[in-house]
Amino acid sequence: MQTLTSVFEMQTLAEDLRSKGQIVGLVPTMGALHEGHLSLIRIAAERADSVVVSIFVNPTQFGPNEDFNRYPRELESDLEKCREAGASVVFAPNAEELYPKGYSTYVVEEFIGKPLEGVSRPNHFRGVTTIVAKLFNIVRPDFAVFGQKDAQQVAVIKKMVNDLHFMVDIVTAPTLRDPDGLALSSRNRHLTNTQRQEALALHRALQKAKSMVESGEYRSDRLVAEATHLLGEHRRIRIIYTSIVDRCTMEPVRDVIPGKAIMAIAAWVDEVRLIDNIIL
Ligand code: AMP
Repeated sequence: MQTLTSVFEMQTLAEDLRSKGQIVGLVPTMGALHEGHLSLIRIAAERADSVVVSIFVNPTQFGPNEDFNRYPRELESDLEKCREAGASVVFAPNAEELYPKGYSTYVVEEFIGKPLEGVSRPNHFRGVTTIVAKLFNIVRPDFAVFGQKDAQQVAVIKKMVNDLHFMVDIVTAPTLRDPDGLALSSRNRHLTNTQRQEALALHRALQKAKSMVESGEYRSDRLVAEATHLLGEHRRIRIIYTSIVDRCTMEPVRDVIPGKAIMAIAAWVDEVRLIDNIIL
């Protein structure tokens, strides 16, 4: 496995791989890798000749009061995990390499990124689309894998790919969870045991909504009311949103069409911000 830090080296290698006719898969990450990330790498390795994992804590997708400085960084152990999961290249540039002094170009998707995360994190998706577009240009992958855990991110990126004619297939990977249901996240490490117990309510609320849909309750307001009620029983949890939206457009839906809508939740568990979702 090769580890590269410069754009030039990565572009040169990418050209080389393409000229050999290799299928290249990209897995963009911010590091602090857990089994969820590794499942993406394994999915990529099944379809690609070469899997490139990018590890970059992207400053432009964090708001001024968010946890950019506190975000965990552990490159050495990440490299080992990438190797074991089947990556052939890790691209781990520093911030100056991707955003040199005077950097001034951004990619903005203007519709799908507006609700949900876009409300409380106004420039978040501008940072995401910008970094992903840059990575697509640097790595020139045939496909890239993203987690359903960040459902709105997947929808925004698919739209960007379509609108800007990137020749990259977007593969969506299912959310990996701990056995008790908590979605794996690099931020879970900030949870104490008590907070972690409370955080389980997110998945329980989502599951409750899904089971209600399976029993024939399609009215979003009823489903949201039940989920809100369940979350409300936990005093450490403050709901940021609980919404039922179309899984492609992120527009609110009044009545669920099974398979086409998701319930998405964002909540504070004390000072840790968590998101999760389920396909209804
Ligand atoms: P991050 O490092 O948090 O930016 O995540 C990198 C990629 O891993 C994104 O595509 C995420 O959606 C995905 N991911 C994060 N957590 C999980 C999980 N629990 N299961 C599957 N994919 C995940």
